[in-house]
Amino acid sequence: MEFEHKIAVLGSTGSIGTQTLEIARTYPQIKICALSAHSNTDLLEQQAREFKPSLVAVTDENKAKDLKIKLADTDIKVVSGKKGLAEAATVSDAKTVVTAVVGISGLEPTIEAIKSKKNIALANKETLVTGGHIVMRLADENNVRILPVDSEHSAIFQSLQGCRKKSEVKRILLTASGGPFFGKTRAELMDITPSDALKHPNWSMGAKVTIDSSTLVNKGLEVIEAKWLFGTDNIKVLVHRQSVVHSMVEFCDNAVIAQLGVPDMKLPIQYALTYPHRLPMIDNELDFTKYCNLTFEEPNTDTFFALRLAFDALKQGGVKPTVFNGADEAAVELFLKGKISYLGISDAIDSAMNKIDNIENPTIEDIFEADRLAREIVYSL
Ligand code: NDP
Ligand code: MG
Repeated sequence: MEFEHKIAVLGSTGSIGTQTLEIARTYPQIKICALSAHSNTDLLEQQAREFKPSLVAVTDENKAKDLKIKLADTDIKVVSGKKGLAEAATVSDAKTVVTAVVGISGLEPTIEAIKSKKNIALANKETLVTGGHIVMRLADENNVRILPVDSEHSAIFQSLQGCRKKSEVKRILLTASGGPFFGKTRAELMDITPSDALKHPNWSMGAKVTIDSSTLVNKGLEVIEAKWLFGTDNIKVLVHRQSVVHSMVEFCDNAVIAQLGVPDMKLPIQYALTYPHRLPMIDNELDFTKYCNLTFEEPNTDTFFALRLAFDALKQGGVKPTVFNGADEAAVELFLKGKISYLGISDAIDSAMNKIDNIENPTIEDIFEADRLAREIVYSL
């Protein structure tokens, strides 16, 4: 296939960001116009020298100063802070922006990118969880595509390719690996340490999303993400330990269409960059004989209580999903620092959700205020 694609990668030093650049290395037709990181300027410098973007953004102001000095012998423009991240998101040449930053920090640059008519290859699920109603409307108004990078949502998107009428979709079957603590009771999770929770059985990811996978908060965020991407809240979560069936769509005639593959983010990232085309993938063929049993089970929402809270947040709408997300971001940070227990994460989310009043149809300011309040409640616990 002949194609050329110009992209900006926000969060290029992270797990999704580095895998996106691996794809660009394999397919040099993918040109990198801008890169961003928060503070890892060593890696960002290497990436900038290899991919030669016109601009790199560093959100940590001091680290940006370091990078300016390091890249002084090049033509690459170094920008800083939130403003710099927005500049990377709107860099003139890029057609698509890969949003691979972590947390609610993805929301504003994604909005800026959409306003500049960029398609979005969306990894940062927090964008839709917090501002889905704003982002989807803006995407529609600006005629840009939001292409899912999250593996489950990519699977759903791929399964929907033959679907001509939305009304023919009955429900989404969202698969979950179940994480490292599948089958445990709450009592058995009392003494879980960060290093226990950072061991994911199937996927290698950034720290935040790995902890979220173990608590099933990640699945909760994905349920809300799916609602915005696919316009339905008829979503069923199924625990599928092998992470081979990446998710499914059930149609009104009970036909179920799924996308399968080995657990590797490169396929969903690549598909978001090449859609509607497919490009060959050199490795990672699925060998069915290695997977004799594909199993599907109900999630245990007593142990993984946060998943139930996510469904509550989805049902209530307004700022509740933002509160769910903000409280989790703060709680995961405290857990990783050893300041709260593992079970304290879902308790913190519950407490923030109970304490903050809902606002329907929130503005961006309402969303950031709800996020701030949620964090404040968690830090004060
Ligand atoms: P990582 O933690 O590996 O990387 C995060 C990236 O964002 C890094 O480049 C980091 O820079 C940058 N960053 C961190 N904090 C900020 C900030 N405050 N402002 C701007 N940039 C920041 O995350 P992942 O790649 O794992 O995840 C990225 C997103 O993709 C998340 O939303 C996650 O939920 C989603 N996702 C990830 C999957 C995965 O397999 N990893 C799968 C599906 C979705 P620095 O390196 O300098 O800190
Ligand atoms: Mg996922």
